[in-house]
Amino acid sequence: MKVIPLGVNGAFTKYYHNNYVFELGERKLLVDAGTTLRYSLKDAGYSETDITDVIITHLHSDHVGGLEEFAQRCKWIHNHKPNLWVRGYMKEDLEEVVGKGLFTDGLTLNDYFNVFTVECGFRNRFKIEGYTVELIATDDLHANGMKSFGLYIEFPNEENIVFTSDIAKHEIAGFKAFIDHKTVALFHDVSLVKNPVHSYIDDVIEHYRDVIDLSKIYAMHYQDGVDVDTLEDKYGVNFVMPRRIYEF
Ligand SMILES: [Zn+2]
Repeated sequence: MKVIPLGVNGAFTKYYHNNYVFELGERKLLVDAGTTLRYSLKDAGYSETDITDVIITHLHSDHVGGLEEFAQRCKWIHNHKPNLWVRGYMKEDLEEVVGKGLFTDGLTLNDYFNVFTVECGFRNRFKIEGYTVELIATDDLHANGMKSFGLYIEFPNEENIVFTSDIAKHEIAGFKAFIDHKTVALFHDVSLVKNPVHSYIDDVIEHYRDVIDLSKIYAMHYQDGVDVDTLEDKYGVNFVMPRRIYEF
């Protein structure tokens, strides 16, 4: 699989938000749709019609603020209907966020997307092409009062990646339990300064160093204007770069 960061920075970035395209065989899964999506998607070489599947991990604007426009462009410009994998527990909230703009003239989410309602947990795993996806609940562990989740994706060859999305209390979230010898990458929210809604980089490294080689950690959602080479030398983990293709 290939992971392409459309952007890598935080909510208040002057660049692009921490949104991703996961290329799973022929399918292209968009993970999150922030307000910068209309530019970031194009700059990474994609059109809306390339996106076959969408997952929104939580309802902060840097993750969902571009979804309404994405849906409008798909429907009205391209007549393109991607799959939308919605966590059932968050569906009403998602509809409230995008519905005021989308649900005119009796239209519903189903007019813009093929909607699949899924839940967190092992027993609710689902497949996108040959790839198995599990949603990992992180409610209140990114921001108090925020429903959110991370992702576990297992390849057809049984290797896997773990993607935290936004997280602060990663110890409680239990991502560690998903990491085994077949884990090829851990994409983890990091902050370079202590922050109430994002994981502090030193804590991340300390927490995972006994279960995964640091070279398999991919730090994301970090602050603007940092020197990535210096940070990679200092911490021994990767700092993801926008539009770089990470192939696993
Ligand atoms: Zn967030």
